[in-house]
Amino acid sequence: MSISKIKMMTCKECKRNFFVKVYDLIDGDKDYDLRKKFIFDELFIFKCPYCGHIHFVPYPLKYINQKKHFIVQFGSLSDVYNFYYNDKDIDTSLYIKTGATTTILAREKVVALENNLDHRIASIYRYIMAKQYEEYAKENNLPKLEDSYLCYDDDGNLAVIFDVIEDGKPNSFCQLFDQELYEEIKNDYIDCLNNTNDMIFDDKSVMKVLCANKLKRQSN
Ligand SMILES: [Zn+2]
Repeated sequence: MSISKIKMMTCKECKRNFFVKVYDLIDGDKDYDLRKKFIFDELFIFKCPYCGHIHFVPYPLKYINQKKHFIVQFGSLSDVYNFYYNDKDIDTSLYIKTGATTTILAREKVVALENNLDHRIASIYRYIMAKQYEEYAKENNLPKLEDSYLCYDDDGNLAVIFDVIEDGKPNSFCQLFDQELYEEIKNDYIDCLNNTNDMIFDDKSVMKVLCANKLKRQSN
C-alpha cells in the first residue's frame, strides 16, 4: 500500500499556506491512479486553493512495483544513497533497485522496468535515439531537442518522447519503441555494463558505457 502524509505548503504567489498530500511510497501495481500521475508527471503539481497558482515541487519518494519486483528511489543523491545503504523498511534483496535524481529519469526507470526491460539498456536506447534526432534536426532545420525520455504515447504504446520548443511553444512527439533494435543495442552494450554502478544510471553513465564500447571496438 502507498504511504502518504499531509504537509503544509506556502504559495509562492499569494504567500498563503495550504495543505497537500505527499507520498513516501507509491505502490505502483496497486495504486493505478498514483502510477498514472507519477508517469505522466502530475504527482508533483500542486494548485494553490486561494489564487490558483500552479507549483511544481518534486519531493523524494520510493516507487515500488511488487509484481515486477523493482524499486526506484527518486530524490537527492543522499536520498538514493540512504535507500541503498541504510533503508531497513523493505527487504530489498528481492527487488531490482535503482535511483534517480531527476523526475524525468525516475519516470524512465519505472517505465523501463514495468516493461521488463533492463533500465540501463533502455536509457542507452533512448540516448542513442535522442542523438539521432539531434543530428537529423540539425540537418533539416527542425526544432532543437529539449528533453527525451522513455514513456507512453496517447494510445499507451511504449515510446521515446522528444520534447522540443516549436515557434516559442513547448511541443512533443514520439517514436514508437522498437523491441528488435533494443535487443541489438543490448547485445552490443551488455558486456560494457558489468562494471557500472546501478545506483544511478543516468546520461553520464550512458556516455561512459558508449565510450567503453567504442574503445573495446577499436582494440578488437
Ligand atoms: Zn496562492
